[in-house]
Amino acid sequence: MLPAEAQKSSERIAVTAKRMIDVRSGKEITDAVIFIEKNKIVNVGSGLSIPDSVQVIALGDVTLLPGLIDAHTHLLHQYYAKYGDDNSNRLLEMVQLGPARRALLGARLAREMLEAGFTSVRDLGNAGINADIALRDAIKNGDVPGPRMFVSTRALAPVGGQFQSVTPEAQQLIGQEYIQISGVEEARKAVRQAVYEGADCIKVIANSGARRLSSEEMKVIVEEAKRANLPVAAHATDGDGPSMTAVEAGVSSIEHGYTISEAVLNLMAKKNIFLVPTDASGVTRYQDRIKRALKAGVRIAIGSDIYYEFPGMTRGQASIGMYKTYVASGMSNMEILRASTLNPADLIGSNSIGTIEAGRFADIIAVKGNPLNDIGVLEGVVFVMKDGKVYKQTLH
Ligand SMILES: [Zn+2]
Repeated sequence: MLPAEAQKSSERIAVTAKRMIDVRSGKEITDAVIFIEKNKIVNVGSGLSIPDSVQVIALGDVTLLPGLIDAHTHLLHQYYAKYGDDNSNRLLEMVQLGPARRALLGARLAREMLEAGFTSVRDLGNAGINADIALRDAIKNGDVPGPRMFVSTRALAPVGGQFQSVTPEAQQLIGQEYIQISGVEEARKAVRQAVYEGADCIKVIANSGARRLSSEEMKVIVEEAKRANLPVAAHATDGDGPSMTAVEAGVSSIEHGYTISEAVLNLMAKKNIFLVPTDASGVTRYQDRIKRALKAGVRIAIGSDIYYEFPGMTRGQASIGMYKTYVASGMSNMEILRASTLNPADLIGSNSIGTIEAGRFADIIAVKGNPLNDIGVLEGVVFVMKDGKVYKQTLH
């Protein structure tokens, strides 16, 4: 027998707070009231009157914000400093963790991200073969709590992926983590495969050190991804060559871009290509490029790219510490908030997340204090609602 029709949830609820930030207009709204019906926001404003029939979640002296969006995560991927550097961890992870185990690791990290205030993430590979799809769908189905996930499946990469040189026997493992591209037809096939498997975006490793994809390969990847309406995220480091190749091909975002030049930034601004800097808390080496990107008019979507264990911290706590770094890089607090909400939503290609506006999903967080005065308050999220459901409320 089919279960009875789920409880009719046409009732509205209202979330109220002393302040709300409208990330689109850049305005602060006092005495904020957000009306929610099922999983959507239906009305927002200052001092709106609330009918008696409406259930109220009164949060008091806090600031409401759209749920945070982390533009670059690896939720099925965790390295440990005790095992050494990336190279040794990479091999251990491949040998020890199959996709099922990684998906279960991901279930924990996803919950930790949600509890920290991230209601959506763009998860860019290092998830084994399609374990990211499994976790995304399990979250969507309500099997485990977590953010909305926009996933890439395996990253497309030059031969060898991001592995150092390993024995021929060990090279068989590389295909568990990367689709290795050699030639335009392999590039085309890899994107079509990702589309078939249910990817929400394409991740491409434009270079792994000196190993690079060609301009022809990159163009075909973008062409095929565009046909399926999927954005392309390009990992590009080591000088200007890889990022220029990716930008000329028309990718949607450059990931990291530590050494990016004015020439590339100017072209990115012209082509509306995002920079996704991944500067963890305390990393100051590459701050200068943030100022140069803003000056060139490049939109920024902030990503954590955390994949090491931080003892004593959850993945969410380790990730949310990144925002302070961008104050030191010269971004205003409002720019940081936009780069964590509206900009990544646009990069993902969704007009259902990233702002508190009628018609969008009810993905809402609250912090004590005001992030326009102190961005550090984001580290103390006291309320998390995703899809109209409350996952955290530590005020009362
Ligand atoms: Zn990454």
